[in-house]
Amino acid sequence: MLILVTGGAGYIGSHAVRALQRAGHRPLVLDNLVYGHRQIAEQVLQVPLVVAQVGDRALLDQLLSGAHPACGGEPVAAVLHFAAYAYVGESVSDPLKYYRNNLGDTLTLVEALVAEGQRRGTAPPPLVFSSTCATYGIPDSGRIPIGESCPQRPINPYGRSKWMVEQLLADAGAAYGLPSVIFRYFNAAGADPAGDLGEHHEPETHLIPLALDAIAGRIPHLQIFGSDYPTPDGTCIRDYIHVSDLAEAHGLGLEKLLAEGGQHVFNLGNGTGYSVQQVVEAAERLTGRPVPVQRAPRRPGDPPVLVAAAESARRHLGWQPRYPDLATILSHAWAWHQRDPLA
Ligand code: UDP
Repeated sequence: MLILVTGGAGYIGSHAVRALQRAGHRPLVLDNLVYGHRQIAEQVLQVPLVVAQVGDRALLDQLLSGAHPACGGEPVAAVLHFAAYAYVGESVSDPLKYYRNNLGDTLTLVEALVAEGQRRGTAPPPLVFSSTCATYGIPDSGRIPIGESCPQRPINPYGRSKWMVEQLLADAGAAYGLPSVIFRYFNAAGADPAGDLGEHHEPETHLIPLALDAIAGRIPHLQIFGSDYPTPDGTCIRDYIHVSDLAEAHGLGLEKLLAEGGQHVFNLGNGTGYSVQQVVEAAERLTGRPVPVQRAPRRPGDPPVLVAAAESARRHLGWQPRYPDLATILSHAWAWHQRDPLA
């Protein structure tokens, strides 16, 4: 089937494109290439790429109906929507950029899906949406691990933009029958085991690539943000989930929507937390090299502990992460880091 993948030239989207290709689907990427990489789409994945904003309604109508040349005459069966800005700090200093892109453009996409359903005389084509554990804000310590029913109280505009889209999808499902799966990712990490896809952000802000940058001498040291959190070693605890396992979950979510429709929300995590200090030590064990570190103050907006209660996706989608252990996640990230053609 023809599947539209917004943000398919980015980190998680590119891995999902590969999963779709392996499952025999025909992905079509829509990406503005602000953070995505043309080379990944065109050379590594060899997928049709349309370079534009998601909020281009006339283009969306053409793509969804199959009238656009990139569709090869076939209408779009479903949309995986990854395209978003995801820098928490920037979302605080420039919130309207986040509401315009993450919320406004998604509203346009949902309007186009509803209109396409009306044109076909069917339910709107289904949507799989990338949400985030940032929608939970700082959960009460009694709510960890975090289940899907944990209250959502996002603490920054990035998290709020994703949370607002979740509300929008619930309302559009009830009113227009828009089928959707919302995935709340915990910490996406690692790289495709083949070594030719991985994480490359400019600027990079994430722990694992920065720890590897520090090992490789690309940056002088890794800053550890906060050593006085109420955790066993004083550093923040996160649930790192392999990006290929996230991609796999998207394939399963898509099949569920195509088979039975409905509206679903799933956390995607391993249910195991590792502290920043533990990640640093695991990276040192893997590479046999020290991570030069510098202790730094807490980064504003970082909750002490974010760990998923992640049984629901396993139960309802049959999802079984293949690479749950941190050493494997790090080894795939390191293999990619050493050959990253985008660096
Ligand atoms: N972190 C850190 N130094 C860095 C980047 C991140 O100590 O240079 C910490 C951060 O405070 C958080 C954890 O590593 O506790 C994971 O951060 P990341 O930015 O990778 O993901 P987030 O949890 O913000 O989605």
